[in-house]
Amino acid sequence: MVGCALAARLAEAGLKVTVIDQASAAAGASGGNMGLVLWSDAEPGVSLDLTRRAWPELREEMDTLGEVEFRPIHTLTLVPDDQDPTDILSACAHLSAAGFRSVFLPTREVRRLEPLLTLEGVQGAVYQEQAALNPLLFTLAWEGRARRAGVRFVRDTRVTGFRLEGGRVTAVETAGGPEEGLIDGGVFVLAAGAWTRRLALTAGLDLPQYHIIGELLVTEVVPPTVRGLVGLAPPAGQDRVSLELRIAAERGEGSGLRLVEFAVIQTATGNLVVGQVSHGGPDLGEAVRSGCLRDLAAGLVRFFPSAAGTAVIRSWAKPVPFTPDHQPIVGYAAGAEGLFLVSGLKSTIIITPLLSRLAADYIVSGRPGPLAPFSPDRFR
Ligand SMILES: Cc1cc2nc3c(=O)[nH]c(=O)nc-3n(C[C@H](O)[C@H](O)[C@H](O)COP(=O)(O)OP(=O)(O)OC[C@H]3O[C@@H](n4cnc5c(N)ncnc54)[C@H](O)[C@@H]3O)c2cc1C
Repeated sequence: MVGCALAARLAEAGLKVTVIDQASAAAGASGGNMGLVLWSDAEPGVSLDLTRRAWPELREEMDTLGEVEFRPIHTLTLVPDDQDPTDILSACAHLSAAGFRSVFLPTREVRRLEPLLTLEGVQGAVYQEQAALNPLLFTLAWEGRARRAGVRFVRDTRVTGFRLEGGRVTAVETAGGPEEGLIDGGVFVLAAGAWTRRLALTAGLDLPQYHIIGELLVTEVVPPTVRGLVGLAPPAGQDRVSLELRIAAERGEGSGLRLVEFAVIQTATGNLVVGQVSHGGPDLGEAVRSGCLRDLAAGLVRFFPSAAGTAVIRSWAKPVPFTPDHQPIVGYAAGAEGLFLVSGLKSTIIITPLLSRLAADYIVSGRPGPLAPFSPDRFR
């Protein structure tokens, strides 16, 4: 979605743009995520500031992108009885002070919002007003907009590396597809999600961008079960970043280390989408692990017993990148002139309209503006 949105913005600004993808626009994480439009996932600091601006911009783009099943929803993050809520309450206060309404609700109010939810062992939930959409439609909508603006798409063509001459990227090398060989250009945008690190290495850039592999499952269509998003709070004191780094480091199949973040949402068509287990894995594999699916199904039945016996019709695994400071990488890197990086995003849907606009401004004007803090050179 990031590549398509930025391509659309650049073409709308008058640039001649070609997008090269090893598969198709939604083949990566963009076509396989939960479709949540979350501001609550932003890290405090620069990302939170950007997210504050991103929300109204996304709402505006909903009018231009067409039908993407966008809908405002409540999100409820359940807090177990035995969990000290101090950290959660202070996160709520922090977000509310920043203008994102976050309140802790007792169980009787949670029940009113989600009548089919079992609240046994739960002391209450964090309530927030956020949104959801269909991520596949959202990505394809950006692709369509890019095509209408004149962007040329070269599909099923794998970029194998960048040609570097005198510290400047002068061409991409490609394999397969109709345009195998070298494709030259003025500015090269690398927006390959979890694959970005590997490709950046071919231009001599060793970015501290890692990946974990997230798994989801989808059930058959069921009667109305979940009204918003219902998830479980992470254990108190869980440091997500260090856990992700450990998972990324232990990439062998046998490590067994994983991050389980139960959440369920019902799509516009009535399917339940249940997430998410994240684990490491050899390379950027997309193989689903049956143990992960069992964890997700168990969470669903624990909180929504009426879903017991529901058939799982799809599941998948997709790699997502992250950086040690949980901030994206956006901009040019010293040593590879002409190569513009956009990657390492976390809660990407909400930020895509704003980020693609700011990144296009940066490329056109040569000035980073509000994106300066995300320079890849901050890790040097
Ligand atoms: C299970 C799961 C649930 C998630 N839930 C949410 C959510 O609810 N809300 C949210 O905002 N975010 C969510 N995310 C995160 C979000 O999906 C990603 O951050 C986002 O999709 C990243 O978009 P992208 O365009 O940067 O990368 P991708 O969508 O991964 O795109 C990368 C593209 O690069 C192409 N590519 C890779 N290598 C090459 C190559 N060598 N040559 C040519 N092309 C190449 C791929 O084919 C792909 O099309 C979730 C992620 C996962 C895995």
